Amino acid sequence: MDLGIQGKWALVCAASKGLGKGCAQALVGEGVNVVITARGAEALQATAAELAALNPLVQVRAVAGDITTVAGRAAALAACPQVDILVNNAGGPPPGDFRDWDREAWIKALDANMLTPIELIKATIDAMAGRGFGRIINITSGAVKAPIDILGLSNGARTGLTGFVAGVARQVRVASHNVTINNLLPGPFDTDRLRGTMIGAAQKSGQPLEAVMDARRKLNPTQRFGTAAEFGATCAFLCSVHAGYITGQNVLMDGGAYPGTF
Ligand code: NAP
Repeated sequence: MDLGIQGKWALVCAASKGLGKGCAQALVGEGVNVVITARGAEALQATAAELAALNPLVQVRAVAGDITTVAGRAAALAACPQVDILVNNAGGPPPGDFRDWDREAWIKALDANMLTPIELIKATIDAMAGRGFGRIINITSGAVKAPIDILGLSNGARTGLTGFVAGVARQVRVASHNVTINNLLPGPFDTDRLRGTMIGAAQKSGQPLEAVMDARRKLNPTQRFGTAAEFGATCAFLCSVHAGYITGQNVLMDGGAYPGTF
């Protein structure tokens, strides 16, 4: 299927690794020019080179910086001639007990997982509407639908974003101009972040890492973790011309782990 987005420009945040990288790969495969960001310049440059090799017909620009800062966002936006597609992403907040979190911890989580996407949406959405095409994807978490108690910072910040997006996506001045906003909710995906959590669990329990990972896989109906390529393909479809009637949705990708009928 031709997704019909060749030649568009996408800003894919936090994309040197993991799910953001998967989205950038899928978009580049469809002929979309990309600006990718991450804090670590070395991994970012390596990913930019991989993306350029994947499709020599597209432009790939890498902007090193922290997307949760004003300067990081300004640099990312400045590198993108126009933002037709915006993929919001940043690292997730740490796990813990809410009794230990002070105001600063909350502000940090809100900045990364709620206010940064809102700022980037604010900076790009009206121009998208003016051009009659826009696709915004927020990478959130399955925890929005089924909260995980030790991830209270994530549950709170991402649910705030989800509520905000539900309203904006339905504004007539947005939706009637072919601008869609959808959230992608990952369950367990095989990325550095997941591996980091598993390493922590292995150290705590004294079990070998592979045993911990295997036990985690077995908790999922598919008996495996999702892949960044699967995640990216879904993102690319939601960014396609064919997905113009899908907006304000929360698309759960968790291998069927969520046990509800809906
Ligand atoms: P990952 O493999 O650790 O990759 C994170 C990427 O984001 C890296 O490229 C990282 O590069 C970049 N990044 C992190 N913080 C950034 C910042 N402040 N500014 C710019 N770039 C930043 O993580 P992932 O698994 O792809 O996770 C992506 C998001 O999905 C996270 O919010 C995570 O909590 C959420 N999620 C993941 C899973 C899962 O199973 N993987 C499940 C649910 C939710 P630098 O470190 O160099 O900046």
